[in-house]
Amino acid sequence: MPVTPIDAMLQPPSDDELAGCDAIVVGAGFAGAVIAREIAERGGRKVAVIERRPHIAGNAYDHSDRQGVLIHKYGPHIYHTNSERVHTFLSRFTEWYDYQHEVLASVHGKYIPVPFNLNSIAASFPADKAAAYRDALLGSYALGSKVGILQLRRSDQELLRELAEYVYEHVFLHYTMKQWGLAPDEIDPEVTARVPVLVDTDNRYFQDRYQGMPQNGYTPLFERLLDHPNITVYLGLDAISRLHFDVQEGQAKALDFGSLPYFGTVVYTGALDELAGWRYGILPYRSLDFVYRYYQQKHVQPCGTVNFTVSESYTRTTEYTWLTGQQLDVTTVAEEYPRAFEDTQAQIPYYPILTDANKQAYQRYVDFFAPLTNFRALGRLAEYRYYNMDAIVQRALGMADELLS
Ligand code: FAD
Ligand code: UDP
Repeated sequence: MPVTPIDAMLQPPSDDELAGCDAIVVGAGFAGAVIAREIAERGGRKVAVIERRPHIAGNAYDHSDRQGVLIHKYGPHIYHTNSERVHTFLSRFTEWYDYQHEVLASVHGKYIPVPFNLNSIAASFPADKAAAYRDALLGSYALGSKVGILQLRRSDQELLRELAEYVYEHVFLHYTMKQWGLAPDEIDPEVTARVPVLVDTDNRYFQDRYQGMPQNGYTPLFERLLDHPNITVYLGLDAISRLHFDVQEGQAKALDFGSLPYFGTVVYTGALDELAGWRYGILPYRSLDFVYRYYQQKHVQPCGTVNFTVSESYTRTTEYTWLTGQQLDVTTVAEEYPRAFEDTQAQIPYYPILTDANKQAYQRYVDFFAPLTNFRALGRLAEYRYYNMDAIVQRALGMADELLS
C-alpha cells in the first residue's frame, strides 16, 4: 500500500522524482483519486498524487470519533447515482451498505418530509386543504414528477402558487439564507432545483437507481482506489509550494515543479484562484463549521438528517449512525453552521457560490491558465462547480478517456 502518511510527510518527493512521473495529480479527493487510478491503471503511467491534508479522501474523508462513531469530518456524504459507469467503477473498491437517505424538516415543532412531497402536504395542512393541493398538483403533473420551487411559484394556477408560497417560506427561504447568505432567487436556480417538490409519496431524499454508503466507510474505499503500483501518494504537501509558472502578458506560461520544468500532465483539483495567488481576488465560497453533540443512547433524532428550515442558526443536524448502520449504544450528532469564507488560511472553501457574477470571475482564472496545455482543472474547487460525488467521478472518468485516447 503506497499510502504511507508518515513517510510521505517526512520525505516529500525530490524535484527529480516528480519530473520522472508521467502525471502529477494535486488533491486526493474523488476527482484526484479517480483520475490518478485511471492514468495509472488504464494508461499504465506513473502518477504522483500530492495532497496537502494529512489524509486521503478529500471532503469524503471519514473516521471514528472519540465514541467510536464513524463520522464524516467535512459533512455528511450520501452516495447516489444513476450512472452505470460510475457505480460499476466505484463498486470495484467497496461493497455497499444499503442505505436510503431520508430527511425531515423541523417546521415550528413539526416534522415534515423533505423533499416536500404528498406526505408533507398531508402533514402540513388540514385534510380538506391538503386534498385540494394534492389534487391540484396531480392535475398538473404526473405522479413521480419533480418540480423546482422557483418554477412552482410561477405556476399559472392560483392554488399551486399558494402552495408554492408555503413551501418557499417554510422550507426554502430561511434555510437558503442561512446556507448561502442569499435568497433562493438570488442564486443559480440549479441550487434549489436539487431539492424539488416531489409529486409522490416517496420519502427518500434521492430517487437514484443506486444509493448507499461504502460498507466500511469512504476512507477504506479511497485506500483501495489509490492502491496501485503506479501511484505514489504524498500527504501533507501543498502543491503550491512546488508548482510555479511563468507569467507572460497576464497569463500563465511554462510550468515548473520545484526547480525543474514539468512536461507531463498536471491535474489540479484545488482552487484556481488560490493557485493563481488570488490575482483577481478571492472567489466567493461558503464555508462550514461543525459542532458535535455526544449522547449515551442509541438514537436522538428520527432519521439521518433533520433540516431546520424556519429556526436555529444551523442548517441541519446529522446523526451518523443512521447513515452507516453502525449498531452502538452511543450516538453522535453534527450541527452544521454555514459561514462566510473570509479567512483563506483558517477556513475551508466548501461550496462555490453560484451566481452569474461569480462564474464570470472564475472564468478569468480559467483564461489565466489556458495557455498551459499540460494543465487540467478538475473538481468542485478547480471547476467552481457544485458537483456531487457521482458527478465528479463521472467527469474524472471522462477526462481520463480524453487524456488516454
Ligand atoms: P475535494 O473532496 O474537496 O478534494 C480536493 C482535495 O484537493 C482536498 O483533499 C484538498 O486538500 C486538496 N488540495 C487542494 N489544493 C491543494 C494543494 N494546493 N495542494 C495539495 N492538495 C490540495 N456529494 C454527494 O454525492 N452526496 C452528498 O451527500 C454530499 N454531501 C456533501 C456535503 C458537504 C458538506 C459538502 C461540502 C459536499 C458534499 N458533497 C456530496 C459533494 C462532494 O463533497 C464533492 O462532490 C466531492 O468532494 C468533490 O471531490 P473533489 O475531489 O473535487 O474535491
Ligand atoms: N434547500 C432548502 N431547504 C431544504 C433543503 C435544501 O432551502 O430543506 C435548498 C438550499 O438552498 C440548499 C439547496 O436547496 O443549499 C440544495 O440542498 P442540498 O440538500 O442538495 O444541499 P447539500 O447537501 O449539497 O448541502
